[in-house]
Parts: sequence; C-alpha cells; structure tokens
Amino acid sequence: MAASSLLQLAPGVAQGPAQSDLDRCVHCGLCLNACPTYRELGVEMDSPRGRIYQMNEVANGAEITRSYIRHLDLCLACRGCETACPSGVPYGRMIEAARAQIEAHRGRSRFARVLREFVFDHVLPSRASMQAAGAALYLYQATGLQRLVRGLGLLRPFGAAEIEALTPTAEIPFFYSKIGRTFPAISERRHRVAFLAGCVANVTFARLNEATVRVLQKNGCEVVIPAAQTCCGALHLHSGLNQKACSLARTNIDAVQSREFDAVITNAAGCGSTLKEYGALLRSDMAYRDQAEAFSAKVKDVTEFLASINLNREMKSVHVVATYQDSCHLAHGQKIKTAPRQLLRSIPGLIYKEMPMADLCCGSAGIYNVVENEMAMRILERKMQHVNATGANLIATANPGCMLQLGAGARMFGAGQQVQHVIEVLDRAYRNSSP
Ligand code: SF4
Ligand code: SF4
Repeated sequence: MAASSLLQLAPGVAQGPAQSDLDRCVHCGLCLNACPTYRELGVEMDSPRGRIYQMNEVANGAEITRSYIRHLDLCLACRGCETACPSGVPYGRMIEAARAQIEAHRGRSRFARVLREFVFDHVLPSRASMQAAGAALYLYQATGLQRLVRGLGLLRPFGAAEIEALTPTAEIPFFYSKIGRTFPAISERRHRVAFLAGCVANVTFARLNEATVRVLQKNGCEVVIPAAQTCCGALHLHSGLNQKACSLARTNIDAVQSREFDAVITNAAGCGSTLKEYGALLRSDMAYRDQAEAFSAKVKDVTEFLASINLNREMKSVHVVATYQDSCHLAHGQKIKTAPRQLLRSIPGLIYKEMPMADLCCGSAGIYNVVENEMAMRILERKMQHVNATGANLIATANPGCMLQLGAGARMFGAGQQVQHVIEVLDRAYRNSSP
C-alpha cells in the first residue's frame, strides 16, 4: 500500500499535524531542491523545511496568521519533498492535517462558503450536476464562444485568460452511459476488475476512460463499472473537507464490493492516491474500518496493474518520440515510477526520451493551477523547457489533471506537443493492430 498521507485524527477533527510527525524533521534541508515553490522563490518559508517549521510553531501555540496560511496555500501538496526526505517525514499527511486545521479556523465570506459547499457537496459527487455542467461547457465550446473569447482576448483584462486556457474539452458522449455496464475480456478471461471512472473525467476525459476499458479488455480483463460509484473525495481531502471525503469513501466501498474483484482500477493518479488511503481515512470508523482496508488493498493504478500482469504484446508501431512526466500522486504518493515507463517502452516504434527532473511537479496539483495560477504557470514554463530539450513530440503522463496542465504548457511554452495518458498511447498501439 502507498505511504499514507492521511490524517491521524478522527474525521472532521482539525487538530493539525501530529507532533510525532513534526518531530521527524531534522532540518537537514535535503528536500529543498525537490520543492517547486522553493526553486521558484528561494524563500525558506516556502520550502518544505520552512513549512514544517511553521506548522510546528502553530502546534506549539502560535497563532494561525495570514502569512502562515499564505505559505501553506502556496504548497502544491505534490509530496516531492516526501520522496527526497531521508528521515521519512510524512509531509503529505502533515499538509492535509494543517489544511484541515486552517479550514476550521478560516473565516470565509458567506458567498465563498455557499459556493464551496455547492461545488464540493452538490456538483462533484452528483451525476446530474456534472452532466449539466458538462452540457454547458460543451455549448460554450461547440458554439464557437470559446474561440471568440480566446481570439479576442476577452478575459485578459480580468487576468483570467491563463485560467481559461486550462479549461478541459467536454467530450460527448459523456462516459456516464457506460457506468453500470460490464465489458467482457477479449479472448480468454484472466482477470475480473472494477473500474472507477472518476467524477469530472466522465465529462472531460470520456475518451480516456473508454481507452482504459479497451486496453484492459485487450489484456484479458472483464471490466465491471459499478453503478453506484461516486467521486473519490480527493479534492475534498486536499481542501480540508474530511467529513465529506469520508462519506464519499463509504459510498464507493459499498458500491464496489472489492472482494469480488482482482483489482479496483483507476486511471487517475490523484484519485488512486486517495482510494489507496481509504483504510487510513476510515480507521476510526468501526463499521467500515476493515472493509476500507480491504478496498484500499485492491486499488491499483491502471499502469501499475498492467505492468504487473503478462502484458498483451500484440501491438502495432506508434511512431512518436515520447517523454514521460511523472504525476506527483503516482510517483510520490504511490511510489510508482517504473510501471508507466515500462509500458511506454513496450510499444513498438516509440522512441523514449527521459527528461531531466521528470518527477518535479508540472504545477497542476488538483485545482492549484486555477487558485494559484501565477505560480502554476511559472512552474509550468520551467517544466516545458525540460520537455522541449528532449525533442519529444508527445508528452505522456498518468493523470488527467497533469494532461490539462501540460496541454496548456505545450500551447503556451512548448512546440505544440501532443499530450496523452500512457493508456491512450497503448490503446493506439492495440487499435493499430486490430483487424
Ligand atoms: S523534511 Fe526531511 S529532508 Fe526536509 S528538512 Fe526535514 S528531515 Fe530534512
Ligand atoms: S509538497 Fe511539494 S510544494 Fe509542498 S513543500 Fe513539498 S515539495 Fe514543496
């Protein structure tokens, strides 16, 4: 199981990071160069060591100040520091605990509270709301309004053009029509897996979800898409909304009945990290604790799963020069770096080029690139310098959020590289080989 990033506290109780976690930091500074915000700003308080120092101060009675909140808000929660740290500091669960504590303390305006509650409680977990939002997005794009807004630079005076550039494409038909269905293995059935399709991804990454099902089928999997599945709760957790995340976890555990499957598959590294941590999230819920542990033990990122089985090698060539950008929640959250590279290298015709610092965050980080757009763009520009240096014409990654960010990067700072999920590249190889 992945190293847990979750809180060691009862759901909803915002106590801040555990002192035992804070005490593990020996202030050596070996994590500093792995931190994108420190690399950009060179400010100690925007480094992992500096943030831990500030968390410790708060744990020992200091006030939660605006400056403290600002330094923690700027953290991407990418967990690059966790991988770099020789002392095993569990930074991921510390930043989530600190954010839950800030959330309990932060006085938001009534409008901000209502808007937040609406998005987190009534949009992300609701199929009807997501479909309505997806339809509105589709109209914005299909009627040419988006082209007009971009072409005339209408959002530039409001500083919103870069955020709009990150808008995903609404992909019709949405993937919702597949939820509740079972897709048979192609040729002999060797595995039976459940697929969790995400929330926003059903609208904006419908083709990726379909490709994931096809690739699994091609690899002898019967793919069940449980009808009652919902949002995994990752965005709620990252925003300090632990109780809601727990409630979504219970819904997914009931929906999947994981003991009936060889694996519970996700194609989103961010979701996978959270799904693997349901056991930790519900540890104090006696009714769900054991089921949550069993569920998490079955969760596999789709690249992790495919690299662990006898991969179907009946592929045709895909003639691209590809580089791979690690998704933080896969590389640092789940410690999976080899599997996606291994899958890419297995594709005939594909020339693989490793980029420098591939495991440094691209600036996507959930909704970070929207709420902290300026810093996200600085980080992205630097990332694209590394991508451009490889000469690759395709950037592969393993998380929908990273795909959006890198897609914007390719347009704004790159050479128009194509961006695809590793599974989409594999799907091309299998489809090329189909009669
Ligand atoms: S978090 Fe780890 S690497 Fe960073 S200063 Fe503390 S002990 Fe050193
Ligand atoms: S999680 Fe990422 S941004 Fe935050 S302190 Fe660690 S390396 Fe820096």
